[in-house]
Amino acid sequence: MQAYLDHAATTPVRPEAVAAMLPLLTERFGNPSGVHAVARAARTAVDDARDVVATALGCRPGEVVFTAGGTEADNLAILGVHARRGGRMVCAAAEHHAVLHAIDAIGGQAVAVDSSGAIDLDALDGALDGDVTLVSVMLANNEVGTIADLDAVAEVVRRRAPGALLHTDAVQAFAWLDVARLAAVADLISVSAHKFGGPQGIGALVVRDGVDIAPILHGGGQERERRSGTHNVAGIAGMAAAMAAVVAQRDATVARVTTLRDRLADGLLAAVPGAVETGDRARKVAGSCHVRFPGVESEALLLLLDDAGVCASAGSACASGAIEPSHVLTAMGVPRDEALSSLRLSLGWTSTDDDIDLALKVIPDAVGHLREP
Ligand code: PLP
Repeated sequence: MQAYLDHAATTPVRPEAVAAMLPLLTERFGNPSGVHAVARAARTAVDDARDVVATALGCRPGEVVFTAGGTEADNLAILGVHARRGGRMVCAAAEHHAVLHAIDAIGGQAVAVDSSGAIDLDALDGALDGDVTLVSVMLANNEVGTIADLDAVAEVVRRRAPGALLHTDAVQAFAWLDVARLAAVADLISVSAHKFGGPQGIGALVVRDGVDIAPILHGGGQERERRSGTHNVAGIAGMAAAMAAVVAQRDATVARVTTLRDRLADGLLAAVPGAVETGDRARKVAGSCHVRFPGVESEALLLLLDDAGVCASAGSACASGAIEPSHVLTAMGVPRDEALSSLRLSLGWTSTDDDIDLALKVIPDAVGHLREP
């Protein structure tokens, strides 16, 4: 028996995506830039997928730039705008490293978040001025699941830096939230298929009409000169099929998974003495459960859970040979020792009551075992 509770890392590919991809790997395998029948069939698949992705993200088909995933979409937004406009760029301190390190690479600035992981609007206000060309704020956080109020962020940006573009990393949001509506204020939106039932290695950046970005990859000039490289045709079709399935089932999935997540979080808080839930559950995406077990090292806990069939992840990372607390938890003000005792359990479209039963059986025992003198 196995409980896969690491959907924020990657999620199984939906059958709709597999079905869309298979014929493009075997029969219609052409390079869509070509002129013959097999190439044209591939081109049609890319065009059709672009329409689906555009509808799901609330943009025009020409505003979709296919990339090799979320990391590339984030880098293209930040480095692509910076190459055209220069200036200063600002992001939230709890962004994914794909944003944080790209902003850092061009000498930008990270601003504070509150104890739930949401950007501090006063700190943002103070960090902005007329020299700022781009502000990047994620729609949903990958570690703790906190959802941003992008309308409120956009209001601060318009007032303090009217010329700046707003980019949002919606990589963790799409499975759970109506990105088309919630990110309507954004000029640039990143998504990644493998977080919502599409394959790994494919994503997209929405670049609204009128926003000029320089390419970060040079070559054949695909994607209207914005992203060179032969299209990942099967990946693109798989992403579109997964998006359509997510949108069709999203309300039902969110309701079902919220119930599972609440049972998991409440069960752990009740069964493990001293357990602390990170952030504010009411402001999180449905799949996110983040807990801390003071006195327990998360790396040791993960190994015990793995032995017992529970796949989870920790709020820490191995940097230069030492275990360091995650930058997200640090930015939220979680004390270092507590951050090093945290567990991220992330649910997804395949999660079931059986997964929660196993987690609730295994985790309290494992924590108890590690706490034994
Ligand atoms: N942004 C966020 C919020 C993520 O969670 C991830 C993946 O963990 C990425 C970006 C990077 O996406 P990809 O794995 O497709 O490069």
